[in-house]
Amino acid sequence: MRIFNTLTRKKEEFVPITPDEVKMYVCGPTVYNFFHIGNGRTFIIFDTIRRYLEYKGFKVTFIQNFTDIDDKMIKKANEEGTTVKEVGDKYIKEYYEDADKLQIQRATVNPRATEYIEEVVEFVKSLIDAGFAYEVNGDVYYSTKKFKEYGKLSGQNLDDLQAGARISVDERKNDPMDFAIWKTQKLGEPAWESPWGLGRPGWHIECSCMAKKLLGETIDIHAGGMDLVFPHHENEIAQSEALTGKQFANYWLHAAFVNIDNKKMSKSLNNFFTAREILDKYDADTVRFLMLSGHYRIQINFSQDLLESAKSSIERLYNCINNLENLIDEVKKQDMDEEEKLYLKSLDKYRDRFIEKMDDDFNTADAISVLFDLTKDINSNITIDSSKDLCEKSLLIVRELGKPLGMLQKSTKQDLETEIQAMVDKRQQARKDRDFALSDKIRDELKSRGIVLEDTPQGVRWKKVN
Ligand code: AMP
Ligand code: ZN
Repeated sequence: MRIFNTLTRKKEEFVPITPDEVKMYVCGPTVYNFFHIGNGRTFIIFDTIRRYLEYKGFKVTFIQNFTDIDDKMIKKANEEGTTVKEVGDKYIKEYYEDADKLQIQRATVNPRATEYIEEVVEFVKSLIDAGFAYEVNGDVYYSTKKFKEYGKLSGQNLDDLQAGARISVDERKNDPMDFAIWKTQKLGEPAWESPWGLGRPGWHIECSCMAKKLLGETIDIHAGGMDLVFPHHENEIAQSEALTGKQFANYWLHAAFVNIDNKKMSKSLNNFFTAREILDKYDADTVRFLMLSGHYRIQINFSQDLLESAKSSIERLYNCINNLENLIDEVKKQDMDEEEKLYLKSLDKYRDRFIEKMDDDFNTADAISVLFDLTKDINSNITIDSSKDLCEKSLLIVRELGKPLGMLQKSTKQDLETEIQAMVDKRQQARKDRDFALSDKIRDELKSRGIVLEDTPQGVRWKKVN
């Protein structure tokens, strides 16, 4: 398996530290608001990569943090007249609601930065002791010049960075490129005890610290959106490698942006759609299809048209599932004959191609086109004369290859059952409300779809008659 590594700017063979295991850290959201679908793309991409690693048999320890203390969190708490802790609690809950809906698997651990303050203090202390950081009136800064490899991830040296950066001169820093790893408390801000007085951690140190605590000194994969390459990940490397003297992460992966009118979707530009509002109208399979139909290192220009076309594409794939599910109920023949066995075997080539595409730096775009080829083949070869066994086994292949992408797992029958149950419940309510016109209308509608209702002592039951 080959992965593009931002650190070396090359596709490299993936070799985990421990065979068959992957330690993976993804920078998660700052929890002061609902997440937008730009953030959502990053979460979906790394969820897909994790799913694929699991599909390949790796045991993945997947850490994605919540940044629950920073300027934006504090501002939000002040605006809402509440505490930073409550803002965090609320938006972490909302995060799970949307992420679950997007079929994003829960992380092994979602550490909250504020739960690692003691470890941060220890980390900062050690950096000061090793001469990589210095204190000025309660603030602690990292001394970028001390770390000889500073700039290696973003491919810039300190002089270029300094020339390019519009960093305001700050008297307290020895060098404009130095960054805060501990911030002294300002009036009204939440703060924790430290050897430098009351204060709070800087953003970059939190991730260095949580990754070390939960995964160890060297991890396999560190990931996040493209905007994190500099300064966030550059600074994480400087902190972690200065402390341990070891390589922090072997592979650095970065997901490209979702743009709107060719500008990065972001809360600050106010050009975003929340995942929540998109999920009101489109299902997870559609959103995932949209996000994965391009390669993860290529930007997406988001539009309504793109969503609509993702919707009709995923419907085309579900048509195959729908056909197979219907055939499983309807076909007369049970077992495969020799010809069918050969046909089933011929479908293996799609699995091979799917793996080949995904092994090439997670090329989901090409992997999805393999899914179209597979379903097209099935649609034109499996018919009412096929055996039940062949229908079931073909359906399993479609689902197997959909799973690493987090899609194609729904049953079209489940959908139908939920829909019918909802109609039955609505009719019951209508009867309770003595709205017999509505209840009769629903009964007729169900009848026209071959569903009959029976009143039993246990309540209303429905069954399908042909
Ligand atoms: P934030 O909540 O801003 O800290 O971002 C959470 C994650 O989403 C980070 O990994 C960001 O790099 C990523 N991200 C932010 N904006 C976008 C965007 N427009 N497209 C893709 N990823 C993004
Ligand atoms: Zn981070």
